[in-house]
Amino acid sequence: MMILMIEDEAALREVISYNLTREGYQVTALDNANDALIVVEDCPPDLILLDLMLPGLQGLQFLDIFRQKNQTTPVLIISARNTEDDVIRALERGADDYLAKPFTIKLLETKIKVALRRTYERPESELLANSGVSIDMNAHRALLDDTEIVLTQKEFDLLALFIRKPGKVFTRNQLLNMIWGYDNDFNSRTVDVHMAMLRKKLGDKGRHIRTLPKIGYIWEPKPGGAK
Ligand code: CA
Repeated sequence: MMILMIEDEAALREVISYNLTREGYQVTALDNANDALIVVEDCPPDLILLDLMLPGLQGLQFLDIFRQKNQTTPVLIISARNTEDDVIRALERGADDYLAKPFTIKLLETKIKVALRRTYERPESELLANSGVSIDMNAHRALLDDTEIVLTQKEFDLLALFIRKPGKVFTRNQLLNMIWGYDNDFNSRTVDVHMAMLRKKLGDKGRHIRTLPKIGYIWEPKPGGAK
């Protein structure tokens, strides 16, 4: 698996490169995002580690450009900026996960593993459908009636989970655990942000996702009506 790291702090770049290489990843490390735009064209990575504050092109600007062309490659933010607003902004712009510096190598490796597993380990040809929304797990496609919609990795994973278990209540904690690999609710706002984006992309069918205040979410085959 090829990981592209964009990080301008040399010491951090070295320690991450060293550890990920030892874990068997092929690592390309760059100190700026301008060069990264060329690298992602020439040699598309399986995952990107992205710092936000960089010389030249900023992390979020890079993310915008990258996501216009590529919706699925997981992007993990590694940044010293650590307010809730920073995290939400990055997730809304298409990041899959966010690690605030300082973080341990162990946590970074776990996040990478989870992101890669979600993205690339697909069950054999599996078709799921409910209420006019269908998902092809193998081809990684989501359709509203017969129209394909473009989802980010996390949105796709969330939708697949709901379509698989219509009528089941998922708490924010469960979703954080199943989709992001977190084991606490510190980042529960993450779930709300992604659910809001997913709902939007589902258009009229977004009404099947009901928010249960303070609890979580449920996919209702018949929204607001009898089961
Ligand atoms: Ca930086």
